[in-house]
Amino acid sequence: MLFPRPVDVFNGPEGLQDVRDKVVAGERLTPEDGLRLFQSRDLNGLGTLADFANRRRNGRRASYILNRYINYSNYCILSCQFCAFSRKKRDNDGFQLTEEQMVAKAREALAIGITELHIVGGLHPSLPFSYYTGFLRALKAVDPRLQLKCFTAVEILHLAWLARKSVRDTLIELKEAGLESLTGGGAEIFRKEVRSRIATGKESADEYLAVHDTWHALGGRSTCTMLYGHVELPEDRIDHLDQLRRQQDRSGGFTGFIPLPYQPDNNRIPVRHGPSGFDQLRTLAVSRLYLDNIDHITAYWVGMGLKMAQIALSHGADDVHGTIVEEHIFHMAGARSPQGTAERDLVRAIREAGRIPVQRNTFYEPVRIWDEADASAPSDPSYEGAPAAEASAGSPIPFALA
Ligand code: SF4
Repeated sequence: MLFPRPVDVFNGPEGLQDVRDKVVAGERLTPEDGLRLFQSRDLNGLGTLADFANRRRNGRRASYILNRYINYSNYCILSCQFCAFSRKKRDNDGFQLTEEQMVAKAREALAIGITELHIVGGLHPSLPFSYYTGFLRALKAVDPRLQLKCFTAVEILHLAWLARKSVRDTLIELKEAGLESLTGGGAEIFRKEVRSRIATGKESADEYLAVHDTWHALGGRSTCTMLYGHVELPEDRIDHLDQLRRQQDRSGGFTGFIPLPYQPDNNRIPVRHGPSGFDQLRTLAVSRLYLDNIDHITAYWVGMGLKMAQIALSHGADDVHGTIVEEHIFHMAGARSPQGTAERDLVRAIREAGRIPVQRNTFYEPVRIWDEADASAPSDPSYEGAPAAEASAGSPIPFALA
């Protein structure tokens, strides 16, 4: 691959050429390097370098997934200050779904081609452990090919407490019931001083990482996240990325990193705006450059909008997340994006950005690769497609589900 001529990147007064040279040589960046990148205003330089790092790893492919979110309940015993989603039993807009309601949502979504259910909720005050294993089994019975990506680390700790078991034994039992991947949610910002200002009572960074470590030791895979753009400093972001990078060195089970831009509405954080577009792109670029041991960086269109996510594909991101169908958590906090999107819009956005669209599964493995020569995006609605494992005929180049 040709690297852009040196005059094309970091040509300004900021003196980041040494960082560029390290990236080109494949050397690991230090926290000090990362901090300098976060302080940079040379977005074009950063984007070019992150794009180089991404293309060296992922080529011209950019992925999306056909998925559906299900929130089983918004009742929660905690009250994280940034959260606009949780409710107490006394509130009149709390909800909890029955197993039958969840199965109905799964069937509805299967009919439109999804390969993954992404399921999270609050820390419910009274539902028994059997509720969770029950819905996993019921959803797996709908279609065993459906991949179940469920629960944040703090939910796992809550379920372990409910089950009166160790985290390891709890994860084993959930895995036997059908759990295939943990979600990356709940990481927020690891540094204690920030964490206590935005998520009092939530698990510590060590506990978050220990849950993922245990899951990885069991052969599981998960994603990881960072909620940014509120009260944290660049130093806190680098500390967060550094802790994730060290965890990945230890356990190697993170498939992708998803930076989550803070949403400012209906919460108790005294910051009334989310991160700027500049900051969102810079954060994605620095993440790509710093996390040299995580393969994929997702531009989360729900938080940044699909137009920004599209631009992010040339600033280090190689994934735009999925169809989602029904998003609540970001929208209750003020996200202006639609609650779900069509496959055709994801494919078009990727293709227009000069990348090859790839439908992926939960583990970022290709399900189908849209041939460059094939100009046709999926028909409207994209959801009309067959389940991915059956959709190998036709113009997309078929790839088997692993
Ligand atoms: S972020 Fe999660 S744990 Fe915290 S209050 Fe909201 S639902 Fe509960």
